[in-house]
Amino acid sequence: MAIADNLKKLFTEIPPAVKLIAVSKYKNETEIMEAYQAGQRAFGENLVQEMIRKEATLPKDIEWHLIGHLQSNKVKYIAPFVSLVHSVDSLKLLQEINKRAMQFNRIIECLLQIHIAKEETKFGLNFSEAWQLLSSEDFIKLQHVRITGLMGMATNTGDDNLIRSEFRALKQFYDQVKSKNYPLHHLSMGMSSDYKIAIEEGSNMIRVGSLIFGER
Ligand SMILES: *Cc1c(COP(=O)(O)O)cnc(C)c1O
Repeated sequence: MAIADNLKKLFTEIPPAVKLIAVSKYKNETEIMEAYQAGQRAFGENLVQEMIRKEATLPKDIEWHLIGHLQSNKVKYIAPFVSLVHSVDSLKLLQEINKRAMQFNRIIECLLQIHIAKEETKFGLNFSEAWQLLSSEDFIKLQHVRITGLMGMATNTGDDNLIRSEFRALKQFYDQVKSKNYPLHHLSMGMSSDYKIAIEEGSNMIRVGSLIFGER
């Protein structure tokens, strides 16, 4: 029952306005069902193949969130069911999501992944690239995707001040975009190691894996 206990503890710590995405990458269907029985319905996966395998057999009221880097050629596999794509970082990817969403007569909600960390390796747009994308004609004409928010990952460090300043910068950018009449409502920031700081800095969606399911 460790998974259920971990979840219950988290539920008591997270304010009601913050949505918990349970990151179930590399965890099996039995483990996911333990979280499901404890009441969790939103799960995050990094890999398309893993997500489609799990979606095929697990209950249909699960919301599947794609949180890892998404390649254009894989979009077609998740387009029928994906609930939210957290990791959009190019117009080309959005155009592909739009095309596939249209085939399934859906509008797929997406977040722009913003690069806020010091590390070079993490994916994402910088603030000016995100502005450019949001204001481009090519984006505005897409009818089957909707950008509903932003996602960011802080530097993997023990320096809480650095983490806090990165989350704060993303929240400021989020507010700035909203003030220009973009109807954003998801700010996806915070993982097992830094979700408390993220919530203090205005996150309303956290992606927590190892704290629920144990180390991978
Ligand atoms: C793996 C992952 C998480 C969860 O990480 P934990 O440290 O296990 O909570 C969150 N977001 C993304 C993008 C991830 O790849």
